Parts: sequence; C-alpha cells; structure tokens
Amino acid sequence: MAKIGIIICARYKDCGGGKCLRSMRERRGAFSSYPADEPLEVVGYSTCGGCPGGNVEYVPAEMKKNGAEAIHLATGLVVGYPPCPNIRRFKSYIETAYGLPVVVGTHPIPEKYRKVHEKLPFWKDSGMAELAGPLFAEAPEIQAAYD
Ligand code: SF4
Repeated sequence: MAKIGIIICARYKDCGGGKCLRSMRERRGAFSSYPADEPLEVVGYSTCGGCPGGNVEYVPAEMKKNGAEAIHLATGLVVGYPPCPNIRRFKSYIETAYGLPVVVGTHPIPEKYRKVHEKLPFWKDSGMAELAGPLFAEAPEIQAAYD
C-alpha cells in the first residue's frame, strides 16, 4: 500500500476534496502512476496555511510520521487563478527538508479551467506542463468529466 499526504491551496480551504478522492480511486491525473490494484491511502490532508504558504514548513512532518511516502501538491495550486507562485519552492523545500518526493497535482485539470488558462499569455511559458506532466497528458474527455 502506498501512503501519501495532500497539501491544498488555502484559497480552497473549504473544498470537500471530492475531486482528489475520486481521482485517487480512478487513478486519474497525478494518481495515474500508482498501480490500480494497489491500495492508496491518504495519511494527511491540509492546506498550505495561506500565502505565502507557512504551513508547508511544518505539515509534512506529521504526514511523514504517519507513513507518507510522497506529498502531492493539489491541482488547485496549478490551475487556480492565479496559479500558486510558490509551487517550485514548496517542492524543493519538502524534498530537501523531509526527503519525501513531491508530486505536483492531484485530480485532472477540469476542462473549464484549462480553457481559460489556454487563453492567458503567460500560461504557455509558465513551465506548468513540465512540472505537472500527467495532468496535462490527461485526455480532454477526462478533463471534461472533472468539471
Ligand atoms: S497561492 Fe500558493 S501560497 Fe497562496 S494560498 Fe495558494 S498554495 Fe498557498
């Protein structure tokens, strides 16, 4: 069984987590790399604490203590408006300070978000496609199903 922690953007702190949990079950988005026949357990779920993300300094400790083998930065950091400016710093920090791999993304990018971002001039050069490859590789019909 693989164990993970999820950190969401605090702007979505009231999110019920439905898309993340669904995509875990369906092995979509950033969860596509986990084998479908292997259980996946969330051992921690929290927000970044609000800009600039102070909780990222602390919350991985509890996740690690509870057995997390990877930390996912939720898709909201990638496609919220504006996207989180600190994603790369969060990833480097957690990987350096806690020795846990950080995966950028959880559920597939909802189609309605993709459509808006594609119209924004800075989106193409943002490097998000490299940072969150599996999210961008998801089929358009799956993205539509996550609207
Ligand atoms: S934009 Fe980034 S730092 Fe700000 S609340 Fe969202 S995840 Fe946290």
